[in-house]
Amino acid sequence: MRPLVFAGNWKMHLGPEGARGFLTRYLAGHEPVQGREVWFFAPAVSVAAVAAQVAGRADLRAGIQNVHWEAKGAFTGETSVAMAREAGATATLVGHSERRHVFGETDQETGLKVRAALAGGLIPMLCVGETLAEREAGATLAVVRRQLDVLAGLDAAELGRMRIAYEPVWAIGTGKNATPEDAAEVHGAIRGRLGELGAPADRVSILYGGSVKPDNAAALVAETEIDGVLVGGASLDPESWRAIVRADRD
Ligand code: PEP
Repeated sequence: MRPLVFAGNWKMHLGPEGARGFLTRYLAGHEPVQGREVWFFAPAVSVAAVAAQVAGRADLRAGIQNVHWEAKGAFTGETSVAMAREAGATATLVGHSERRHVFGETDQETGLKVRAALAGGLIPMLCVGETLAEREAGATLAVVRRQLDVLAGLDAAELGRMRIAYEPVWAIGTGKNATPEDAAEVHGAIRGRLGELGAPADRVSILYGGSVKPDNAAALVAETEIDGVLVGGASLDPESWRAIVRADRD
């Protein structure tokens, strides 16, 4: 069975001191649960602090929010996969909607980042999702399929190491979210497309993201197609994060 993954995206919050303080408070009440994983996508400067605190805990993972696809060079402000690994990251977000829509990241670039992460030993969590205009135009599934097309050409073993996060852009940081049923329908389509691309689709975790809070997390993870949640705002408070991580699946 696929594990349930609870992933916090701290965005541009929590420097090293803040990360240590957050984790000290969160871990004081954290109890590992069979079949559940808790991931922290920290800003690059905080990855080492997170990695030090999750070291030795099999259910916890330190991740970075973005990597560059080149191994090194004149790319001011960027972080390579090897540098992220050296800091202790074992996973990276790729193509978060803020990367796509604020920084203009293209599908071609997300494809390069996925390949660099896989080659360098980071688990890529590829984020996909439609804008409100695309949803209203009935284009949700077409957009998500296009964003997944960057995976074409990867072999089954590589595809099996992917994680996908379905995050409708209109739901991120807005307080609006897809209903669990709507999200599950898109997740099913994503799983179908992964299968067409040659992935062992039953084994790939597909998370939902977009205004997940303690009071809606349980209904989302109750859907068998939803293998966890990617959470921005509500992952920044140790108590609300703990409540989300404990969301009951029944
Ligand atoms: C995100 O940043 O991936 C996200 C889903 O943010 P929020 O939970 O704040 O909507």
